[in-house]
Amino acid sequence: MKRAFTDSDQLVLGVDIGGTKLAVGLVTMSGQVVAQERTPTQVKDGPEVILTRLVTLCRQVTAKAGVGWNRIVATGIGCGGPLENGVVKSPPNLPGWDDIPVAEFFSHELGMPAYLENDANAAALGEYFFGAGRGVANMVYLTISTGIGGGVITNGRLYRGENGNAAEIGHMVVVHGGRECYCGNRGCLEAYASGSSLARRAREKVLAAGQASLLPGLAGSVEAITAETLLQALELQDPLAHDIWNETVNILGSGLASVINLFNPRLVILGGGIINFGERLFGPVRRIALQRAMKPLAKVADIVPAQLGAEVGIVGAAAVVLDKLQLLRTVREGTYGSFYA
Ligand SMILES: [Zn+2]
Repeated sequence: MKRAFTDSDQLVLGVDIGGTKLAVGLVTMSGQVVAQERTPTQVKDGPEVILTRLVTLCRQVTAKAGVGWNRIVATGIGCGGPLENGVVKSPPNLPGWDDIPVAEFFSHELGMPAYLENDANAAALGEYFFGAGRGVANMVYLTISTGIGGGVITNGRLYRGENGNAAEIGHMVVVHGGRECYCGNRGCLEAYASGSSLARRAREKVLAAGQASLLPGLAGSVEAITAETLLQALELQDPLAHDIWNETVNILGSGLASVINLFNPRLVILGGGIINFGERLFGPVRRIALQRAMKPLAKVADIVPAQLGAEVGIVGAAAVVLDKLQLLRTVREGTYGSFYA
């Protein structure tokens, strides 16, 4: 599907606002990144300074690509939730971003429409338009890194819910009365299977087990154990690492069985740092999820890795614009059809 970028292409600005880094890219309507810029977020600078920095990056990236401003259709922005109607509402990774009208800011500063979406929803749209979910009208996307985010595409459209915060799959309860989660609930999927929870569980198990394990030695100390250390220990057949991983894939697999039962997707696409575990992840999680989901739903479902890699933030943000254009077209024509066949 990727082709050479031509002078007549219409373009979209994709803006990814993360807790540690900012990324801006100029993206074609077929998902090709023409130019991009990245810089650390420096959260302590606060929203006004950071947003101004992002607008400068938008102009820099456009100048770098050597394209006219008039060829850019709109700006798509991905940012950690919660969000509501283009306004960022105190995400845990962006302290001080309380009721910040981000979409309006970009629209005003750049003189074009700007659309804001939860970063996991944006990534789901990215995978749907340009990645592993291309042509798959019903799919669920999960990003499993420091935290767990989700996005649901049903009948080719992003499922937003009543106020745009749907698909918090990381906060689906998988263990009744289980581990504490930062959201205030207990037993959330994120409290077991996110990268930081994996590391925390591994540290606790090492301290509690009193059993020899390679984990502290590989990391340098118990405190330094991370999800990457767990992967190294698994490769060296460490029994404690194996127990932790076994529990993780069981919890994740049963959580995904519920996701399949809820949404009846063709694909569940997993992205984020956890896909570095490769078949150690996909083999057991696929087997457990498809065994436990109801038969008619399991027989059409599969669990696969995301395809967009490091550019997912930028490409996902750009895909938010495509989803909006699709909606506008549907309303204008009074029809339902795929904007990007
Ligand atoms: Zn939670």
